[in-house]
Amino acid sequence: MSTVTPNLNFCDSISDRNANSLLYDYKEYFLISSISRKVLEISHKQKTPLIPLVYDIWYNYFKGENQELVQHINGFIESRKPLSLVDLDHIHAEFLNSPDLREKQIADATSSLDGEMNDVLTVIDSHLTKCGDYSESLRETTGTLNEATGLDEIRKAVDCLVSHSESIQSDTEQLRSALNRSRAEIESLQLALDEARKNELIDPLTNIANRRALERRLQEMTGSKRSADHDFCVIITDIDHFKSINDSHGHLIGDEVLRYFAGLIHKHVRKEDLAARYGGEEFAIILIGCNVEEAQKRAEIIRAELEKVKLVIKDTKEEVGKITASFGITRFREGDDHLSLLGRADENLYKAKQGGRNRVAA
Ligand code: GH3
Ligand code: MG
Ligand code: MG
Repeated sequence: MSTVTPNLNFCDSISDRNANSLLYDYKEYFLISSISRKVLEISHKQKTPLIPLVYDIWYNYFKGENQELVQHINGFIESRKPLSLVDLDHIHAEFLNSPDLREKQIADATSSLDGEMNDVLTVIDSHLTKCGDYSESLRETTGTLNEATGLDEIRKAVDCLVSHSESIQSDTEQLRSALNRSRAEIESLQLALDEARKNELIDPLTNIANRRALERRLQEMTGSKRSADHDFCVIITDIDHFKSINDSHGHLIGDEVLRYFAGLIHKHVRKEDLAARYGGEEFAIILIGCNVEEAQKRAEIIRAELEKVKLVIKDTKEEVGKITASFGITRFREGDDHLSLLGRADENLYKAKQGGRNRVAA
């Protein structure tokens, strides 16, 4: 039996954002340090364990931008009600990770991007107007030159040309630096938008695809634009008696088990497949170019590996005990949509549960 310690990082949580985003300016650095110190103090005072989720809550609390979060937590502090892990979990889901919030981030980034684009267009527009004025005055000066009879008049016209070209040169310089500033701003907004879009499709607990990503992929695969020879299977898997894991070891260990299982599934899918958290302790897998027999074999590999693993709690060395999961499989049929596919996979999962759990049904 292999021994695996929970609390491992199965998926890379560090975003591959532009390395420039790591270059904080000093003001930001001192702000972050000062907030971090406050987080440590309050966490100690309120007896909340400093796991990343809790850190995120306190960090945002002291940052103060999310006023609804601040007021909600102040309610607890003022009433001297202790913050349990379940409370903290709910607070995080409601104020820091709700789908509404993620949608708002995307909408904000999109509208900033639109605003920046408009600014660029305004700058270019005003430059074009100035260029038009310049052409006009060039034409006038050329006319003056043609009609000039004395040296003085020629000198005046040339002075006028020089002054106009100096002015257009300085305007062009201003345009260039404004465009450079805008380009940097647009790049960073684009990164923020990419990040928000990525987050929209990722389950924050397990770092694999979420239900929205799964449904979106299935809709693409069953929609009218799908490629004709598409053959694939869908598996829904559900951890057996997961409630009793939570009850015996606590919600946080339950979360670690979810992370572990997500990592295990993720390890067994290929690049073209998709592993997603369907909700709670249920996961779904799309296996591309795969018939039911192959899908059964692959589900069986995951089932057998999970059954063998012995999870141990790092700090207390307490064993979580044997964990098993049940699997329901279905194959794409002509006329299926995402709902009929998930429904059939779910029926088979139910059969696996009814048949005694820790098994695969197709
Ligand atoms: P079965 O074998 O029939 O699937 O039994 P079960 O106990 O796994 O199923 P049940 O639906 O009774 O319980 C699922 C539990 O999963 C209840 C819920 O509290 C827990 N749960 C759902 N989401 C999370 C989560 O994000 N973290 C933790 N720790 N628990 C969760
Ligand atoms: Mg279950
Ligand atoms: Mg379930």
